Amino acid sequence: MNKAILIFNAGSSSIKFVLYSPEDCDLLAKGSIDEIVSGAPSFQIKVDNEAWFNEIGCVPQTGSHQALSYWLMSYLHNVESLELLAAGHRVVHGGMVFSEPALVTPEVIRQLEEYTPLAPNHQPHSLAAIAAISSEWPELKQVVCFDTAFHRDQPLVAHQFAIPRALTDEGVIRYGFHGLSYQYIANVLPTVAGPRANGKVIVAHLGNGASLCAMRERKSVASTMGFSALDGLMMGRRCGSIDAGVVFYLQRHHNKSLEEVEDILYRQSGLLGVSGISSDVRELQANKSVEARQALDLFTYRAACEIGSLASSLSGLEVLVFTAGIGEHSAMIRRKICERCAWLGVDIDVSANEANQLKISSSRSGVDVYVIPTNEEIEIAESTRDHISGI
Ligand code: ADP
Repeated sequence: MNKAILIFNAGSSSIKFVLYSPEDCDLLAKGSIDEIVSGAPSFQIKVDNEAWFNEIGCVPQTGSHQALSYWLMSYLHNVESLELLAAGHRVVHGGMVFSEPALVTPEVIRQLEEYTPLAPNHQPHSLAAIAAISSEWPELKQVVCFDTAFHRDQPLVAHQFAIPRALTDEGVIRYGFHGLSYQYIANVLPTVAGPRANGKVIVAHLGNGASLCAMRERKSVASTMGFSALDGLMMGRRCGSIDAGVVFYLQRHHNKSLEEVEDILYRQSGLLGVSGISSDVRELQANKSVEARQALDLFTYRAACEIGSLASSLSGLEVLVFTAGIGEHSAMIRRKICERCAWLGVDIDVSANEANQLKISSSRSGVDVYVIPTNEEIEIAESTRDHISGI
């Protein structure tokens, strides 16, 4: 029997899962269901010990995260040699309440449901996964780990909006997201960057969702995502920061309902909306149209502008880290962003960048620039293991 901790990361368009050994968090198996929004999802699994999974099931062709979560749990339940000890989840929004991982209880689920309007593309999927696990393994301990938690100690000026104070007190503040990714980078940065890891650092998490985090002493001091996961950088399908007046305009002059406006800004904007082609950087890089180029230009322009803004919150910049799908793999995006940050002292070594090397800054650069693959799942696994061992 193989004992394991199951880690579940329900994203906006994919479900990723990983099985780790409970003692050392060694990777046992990992898999994902991708392309969920297309309604024709694909399932893949990489297994360390192939005897576990000798039959790959046929994933239902649906765009429903809920149905796919239930299918996945029943699939895993049928693996006879697998004994789950606990499950850990990435949860995007923990509001003002959660600054630490928490054991799932009915009260915790109720609180998470309250935050669904703040992360409509993510929170319901995590809740569906929790329910699917409870239905297959009713006694299994589940731990939720929050993307917002890493940012909870930011200074007031970094998380306050200039709105009436009563709204701030009620929780209308900048929360910041991708905290599990930033926590992982903060943990490994000293090994990579030495003493500068504790200095003025900006981490660029550039995936389908994208944000920046400014750190000092490896703690978050500012980030580009705000109250919801819509704010800040341009993303795959999300617009990023936008004048709130656009929302009023769409409602008043285009007679759009709130749901329609939400759909435009969350799902029809970003790289997809500007290019009219795709939200996938690989496809846009391969496409020679003006629209594809403009979409990538806007993406890199916005990222560079926001790096400038966060550098101002740090009063300088010593280390810049690129991570997540685009940050780890697109040399072109990194080069364009870094070129715009030359005024901050950023200078990259073009061949190191093309080769996706760990350090891509040149010897002349005043800022050390790194490419570090993120690992949100190991962060969740360690928190889950520590949390259940402390019970
Ligand atoms: P998320 O976890 O937020 O769903 P990822 O971190 O997996 O997203 O990043 C997905 C993005 O990474 C996509 O836009 C994809 O185009 C981009 N990406 C992945 N591999 C490459 C590559 N080799 N070159 C350029 N972009 C890539």
